[in-house]
Amino acid sequence: MRRLCSECKHEDPDTSNLLKGLPASFSNDKSITFWKGEGCDACNFTGYTGRVGIHEVINTTPALQRLINDNGTAQEIEDEASKGTFCRMSYDGIKKATIGLTTISEVYRVAPPPAEELVPDRIPSAELVDDVEAEEPANEDHVSVVSSVTARKILVCEDEEFTLLLIKGILEGEGYTVITARDGTEGLKNALLESPDLIVTDYMMPRGDGIALIKKLKSKMATSYIPVIMLTGTDELDLEVEGLNRGADDFMLKPVNARKLIARVSRLLRKSTSQ
Ligand SMILES: [Zn+2]
Repeated sequence: MRRLCSECKHEDPDTSNLLKGLPASFSNDKSITFWKGEGCDACNFTGYTGRVGIHEVINTTPALQRLINDNGTAQEIEDEASKGTFCRMSYDGIKKATIGLTTISEVYRVAPPPAEELVPDRIPSAELVDDVEAEEPANEDHVSVVSSVTARKILVCEDEEFTLLLIKGILEGEGYTVITARDGTEGLKNALLESPDLIVTDYMMPRGDGIALIKKLKSKMATSYIPVIMLTGTDELDLEVEGLNRGADDFMLKPVNARKLIARVSRLLRKSTSQ
């Protein structure tokens, strides 16, 4: 994982919100603090310098040896290992985030916890996790083309904590600066305050849905030029057409596929700079 810059890291004021998106064993722990990097000279304003390992270790037991010899499935082996001291990779990552070695969104980018361990009403789909793991580039040390230029700012409006963290992680991994909002009202406020280069918004949100948000954004001079990608959980043609009519520049179906999201974001940003 990328390691937080020791020069500019500080406690993340958003910790209590971030906790909601974690597996139950962590989300109830009120003593946890997460950290974030502000960005400074030492880290080229990315908030990160260097890397820190993330590990998964299984101590074998006679029962596990038998299972492995008998060609047990990965799930069977994991279930058996969980009875012992096994600590899965995502948990190792979360623990490292709590001691300030990295951010929670970096953990979700690199090794998201299994969806079935998250609080059920916050999980959009179990496929989400598999999808991102499969799409993760093999070479983690790829140089981001975005971070070498001035970081582009993206506003993500999403009420589901898990999806929000995931999208944030994917975009920050590409070097974008991500600001967030959890409903349409906060989304509009942050769009006006922060002037993001692009907005990704969910369709279904409390307090002003995605369509209403897009309508407002497009009607205001200050925000009308900002490209918008609309997310939805259902594949409905009517919804897509309505979103596009209201001024959405693109449309994506959840669960969010990391590579598709990155491709669409960079296409829209290229388009808006060349105008
Ligand atoms: Zn720094």
